[in-house]
Amino acid sequence: MKELYRKIPKVDKFLKDQDLLKLLDGYPVFFLKEAVNRVLKEIREGISQGEVKEISYEVLKEKVKEVLEELLRPKLHKVINATGVVLHTNLGRAPLSARAIERIKEVASGYSNLEYDLQEGKRGLRYRNVEWILRELTGAEDVCIVNNNAGAVLLVLSALAKGKEVIVSRGELIEIGGSFRIPDVMAQSGALLKEVGTTNKTHLWDYERAISENTGLLLKVHTSNYKVLGFTSSVSTSELVELGRKHGIPVYEDLGSGSFIDVRNLGFSYEPTVQEVLKAGVDVVSFSGDKLLGASQAGIILGKKEFLEKIKRHPLNRALRVDKLTLAALEATLTCYLDKELVFKEIPVWNLLSQSKDEILRKAKELLKELELKKFEGKAFLVEDEAEVGGGALPLQKLPTYCVSVEVKGLSSEEIDERMRSLKVPVIGRIKEDRYLLDMLTVFEDEIPFIVEGLLRI
Ligand SMILES: *Cc1c(COP(=O)(O)O)cnc(C)c1O
Repeated sequence: MKELYRKIPKVDKFLKDQDLLKLLDGYPVFFLKEAVNRVLKEIREGISQGEVKEISYEVLKEKVKEVLEELLRPKLHKVINATGVVLHTNLGRAPLSARAIERIKEVASGYSNLEYDLQEGKRGLRYRNVEWILRELTGAEDVCIVNNNAGAVLLVLSALAKGKEVIVSRGELIEIGGSFRIPDVMAQSGALLKEVGTTNKTHLWDYERAISENTGLLLKVHTSNYKVLGFTSSVSTSELVELGRKHGIPVYEDLGSGSFIDVRNLGFSYEPTVQEVLKAGVDVVSFSGDKLLGASQAGIILGKKEFLEKIKRHPLNRALRVDKLTLAALEATLTCYLDKELVFKEIPVWNLLSQSKDEILRKAKELLKELELKKFEGKAFLVEDEAEVGGGALPLQKLPTYCVSVEVKGLSSEEIDERMRSLKVPVIGRIKEDRYLLDMLTVFEDEIPFIVEGLLRI
């Protein structure tokens, strides 16, 4: 045993190894030291337990290489979404368009006129690049952009209703995950929640009866991730607007996803668009940038100047400020909406949602063909199924899709899933009725070779 310990190469030998240094590619030597230490620790343990009988530098070097590659890999990286959920919160929600990425690259790689007015040669307004497009697209009087829609809700409530009552239907007291609950956000903002109606039914007179001199806001919240079905009724935006006008109380709608496109175009069931909500006369509306809009994470607040000015002046607005990268992506994405055809062609979310069944089938067949060509030893076959939009958008909408179901001898569907998740480019599929499925609706064409390689490897 002593002999074996003595044979363990010195750390320095690895640190001077040109192959390993090349692999390091200019990254801090820390990573190589860490990899060597981990491998040597393991080998010492192996010796003490009598499992290691031989020491070879070359074998150890291979191990160091493996560990080093793993350590050098960024912890945040690409995965392939084969879950069929288009807006998957755990997988980064909306993928960005090529145009948006180009804009991010330009703005990020050097200085920009983020807050600089080039004409005047002095400080300019941070959000002017997206304000004009949003006004153009929606007809809103004024615009405020914050970090995300949760922040937008907190800011609007704080700025317009602190210390005052906010009337909201019991059917809309939502939780959207990540512990974002309307009553909690309300408490945090200093506004007082006044819930009216019941879970399934809320009438206009419920709101009207609750109005007092201390009412600050009428709030409508989009029930993003569920629907109350059956014996139900809720108050429409325009009815609420009318009531607000009568009593001089502003109306705010948290639209959640907030689409600019009428989803009936895709054969989906009706959802109000941002434009429609504004047209109905709400004073303020907010929604996310990275749900159906298909842009970067942001909370977009639109509405009447009178209220938007209060919102913009609130100190929380500064605390929820968005970054230049977000603004670059938002501008590029919003620009597409000036031409609907561009939306479906260029914005990945809409591109995925508007695929025909045939297009999805083509991707599935391509995957199957490649697997056959490369002599995949497992079984792979076509399955028809249903995918979903996700991200708290269109909760009941099912999207017809094609999946490739995979079976590998000696592996359970959970084991296949686990192995696919641990690939260099991890593939996230879904398991349904004990079958491992790769939903081709959310897989991009250029990702198919990675899936093929992954399946051959497992
Ligand atoms: C998604 C959602 C939010 C939160 O938006 P984020 O951009 O995720 O912060 C708030 N309200 C509703 C109704 C939502 O659907």
